[in-house]
Amino acid sequence: MKKLNINNLLRENIKTIKAYSSARDEYKDASTEMVFIDANENPFQTNVNRYPDPKQSKVKARLSEIKNIPSSQILLGNGSDEVLDLLFRAFCEPNRDNVITLPPTYGMYSVLADLNAISIKEVLLDKDFQPKDEEILAAQNENSKLLFLCSPNNPTANSFDASKIEKLITEFKGIVVIDEAYIDFSNTESWLSRLNEFPNLVVTQTLSKAYGLAGIRLGICYASEFIISILNKIKPPYNVNQLTQEKALERLNDLEKVEKEVSTILSERDKLIEALQTITFVETVYNSDANFILVKVDDANKRYKQLIEKGVVVRNRTTQPLCKNTLRFSIGTKIENQILIKILKQL
Ligand SMILES: *Cc1c(COP(=O)(O)O)cnc(C)c1O
Repeated sequence: MKKLNINNLLRENIKTIKAYSSARDEYKDASTEMVFIDANENPFQTNVNRYPDPKQSKVKARLSEIKNIPSSQILLGNGSDEVLDLLFRAFCEPNRDNVITLPPTYGMYSVLADLNAISIKEVLLDKDFQPKDEEILAAQNENSKLLFLCSPNNPTANSFDASKIEKLITEFKGIVVIDEAYIDFSNTESWLSRLNEFPNLVVTQTLSKAYGLAGIRLGICYASEFIISILNKIKPPYNVNQLTQEKALERLNDLEKVEKEVSTILSERDKLIEALQTITFVETVYNSDANFILVKVDDANKRYKQLIEKGVVVRNRTTQPLCKNTLRFSIGTKIENQILIKILKQL
């Protein structure tokens, strides 16, 4: 295996940074009852009058059980968006470093790059929406710190070939972030099982999609103990609020329900794909490994407007590279999907 010193990839100011520490951290687990008058909280009970657990120990312990990854290799954030932002802050020096993205892909990578004053090298996916591995590797330079691989990819809905991903992880000289927001809908295996083989691999997941908790904002980052220890130092101490922690735990303790919903969504997806193929102005229905479908139509702007007039909001992706005249449909409930098909047939 290659020798990659992750410490050398960090920004200088991050290498020596100290985490914020609260007095509570040190005594929370003490076996005797303690009086907590350290944090200027209101002492009267509201269920949320105390600061939340900054380490989110219970949620991590449950995730650790489910995913078979130690808590020391898990970081939680206020959605994946915060997790991704922390990676920028840890590794990317503003106005010097760059990241590589593979359009068409998730828009937040470039938003976060802009926000952090980091330049972006874009290497388009090929016509089958797969990464051009050789071109990506040729595009990197000594300042390329992060490579974002979104698999299954948003908005194309396909998963990337495992052999290409492996080549990229092995040969990219920075951190490879695999965004697995849609992995629970996919036939492909998560890269979590390979986490310990690659010191530069970071896998992100979220409770926003399959777990049905977009409103609570909980994103998850899995990486080496070293990378997680750095992210823990730089995250805002109370970045995951108590209500979110409680709600997440409740859901993670009811996986059967999650699995049932996912399997319903997948069977609805198959039905919707079949129905879309019968619509006259639909030119291509792309394969989906996620809970949405990318569809090429005759005129995306026109069809988008017509759908809005009928009260259906879809995502128009026509301005994205390789996505001319495409619309993206999320899989709704059976009834919502029926409404969509009925309207499409009328247009
Ligand atoms: C929806 C989505 C996410 C989820 O982001 P959260 O901030 O966790 O809600 C992450 N990555 C991709 C590619 C997505 O489409």
